[in-house]
Amino acid sequence: MTKAYSYACRDCEGMEACPASVVAESRQEVWQLMGNHARIAHDENPDDWDQETRDYLETLIKEVDV
Ligand SMILES: [Zn+2]
Repeated sequence: MTKAYSYACRDCEGMEACPASVVAESRQEVWQLMGNHARIAHDENPDDWDQETRDYLETLIKEVDV
């Protein structure tokens, strides 16, 4: 088994209705995919996320076995 990182948008407060989730090999890649998703699905600019938001999102990234 290999370690990977996952993020499910519905775990984020206020995003319970969003079905999107991402899995990637590194946290860095998950951040990129989260950013893309936020842009496409939620019309958010990840560059605007403050440190508090980033710290919160970081807690939602889970380590998984694939
Ligand atoms: Zn979403």
